[in-house]
Amino acid sequence: MAQNSSRMAGRHFLHIPGPTPVPDRVLRAMDTPMIDHRGPEFAKLAKKCLDGIKTIFKTTNPVIIYTATGTGAWEGALVNTLSAGDKVLMVETGQFGALWKKMAEKLGIVPELLTTDWRTGVDPKVIEARLREDKNHEIKAVCVLHNETSTGCLSPIAEIRKAIDAAGHPALYMVDTISSLASADYRHDEWGVDVSVGGAQKGLMLPPGMSFNAISDKAIAANKTAKLPKSFFAWDEMLAMNKVGFFPYTPATLMLFGLDTGIEMLHEEGLDNVFARHDRLAEATRRAVKHWGLEILCRDAKYYSPTLTAVLLPEGFNADSFRAMALETFNISYGASFGPFAGRYFRIGHLGDINDAMLMGCLSVTEMALQLFGVPIKKGGAQVAMDYLVTAHGGAKKQAAE
Ligand code: PLP
Repeated sequence: MAQNSSRMAGRHFLHIPGPTPVPDRVLRAMDTPMIDHRGPEFAKLAKKCLDGIKTIFKTTNPVIIYTATGTGAWEGALVNTLSAGDKVLMVETGQFGALWKKMAEKLGIVPELLTTDWRTGVDPKVIEARLREDKNHEIKAVCVLHNETSTGCLSPIAEIRKAIDAAGHPALYMVDTISSLASADYRHDEWGVDVSVGGAQKGLMLPPGMSFNAISDKAIAANKTAKLPKSFFAWDEMLAMNKVGFFPYTPATLMLFGLDTGIEMLHEEGLDNVFARHDRLAEATRRAVKHWGLEILCRDAKYYSPTLTAVLLPEGFNADSFRAMALETFNISYGASFGPFAGRYFRIGHLGDINDAMLMGCLSVTEMALQLFGVPIKKGGAQVAMDYLVTAHGGAKKQAAE
């Protein structure tokens, strides 16, 4: 009979939708002696990172790098562009949409919240209709999430821009791209976003603790008149210091070494290939889930997220207990559930430095865990995912050509 053991052999399967697995190469880049953050070596590193991160957001404007988690960059976006009492239009696509709104309230902003059933992305028509009603242009900003991490729904950022323009509305456009940047196509300049909020611990493959504001000329102009109090998150001092390769405070030096390497790796693979890989892994996951006979929380295929899939368990099965059992038995972590669906779904993260082999480990284990937990599934979902991946890689055609 097996003894009780405190050690689990093999590696942990981290399938939460961020923090994502940090590649060894990034870890090694961060494993380096401390340098003077006012010295020439630092300035060189900082300038490289400040230039490099622009290529990820696809902007020619400055990107602010905060030594803070994504929540800090949310705050940076709001306090640098708005004044107390300003009205903003926000959408509760899920838990993170709700949290950003809560933050806005605490800061003295007046959010108007459009709600959803937490199973779709943002409908551009709804934004356009609300903005058309706002004849006096009281709404100063439209704030949406590109990818709602709590539900696995992706919103159409370019179309929402078109909706704002169609309404002829001058509101700033702010987008949270924390769980989509460097894993789903994102274009700050081309899509006319004024402030893009990013985070380190997802597609960028870094540990948590660094976040970003990509900013447009219009956002920089708004910053000149925005009256909300700000100090640590203020853009002006940061922009002035960044010009010469420094920060107004001691930045997370080792994270910058990691960021530099993460950006280098993304370009070595090619951003379009990175996006295609995420699309492929997401599609394989969804095919497995559908074969099992389980429901995907995102109920409309046009909003499917390429970075995570939230899976509803049937009535009577507690998803938190399922996650605990899977962790204990198979050393795998899934994301938790929130809000009206708390306890009803688990989230499979398939973003960051992850490949087909890692995904198949995850899906095979998930199929076993579901069976162990007694969920009535149709076996063979992992096989269906494998069949899809074979096809996606060229299938029999590739063999025949050789
Ligand atoms: N926005 C989104 C979409 C997120 O997924 C998260 C965290 O996962 C946040 C904001 C908050 O970021 P952080 O936890 O790094 O502060």
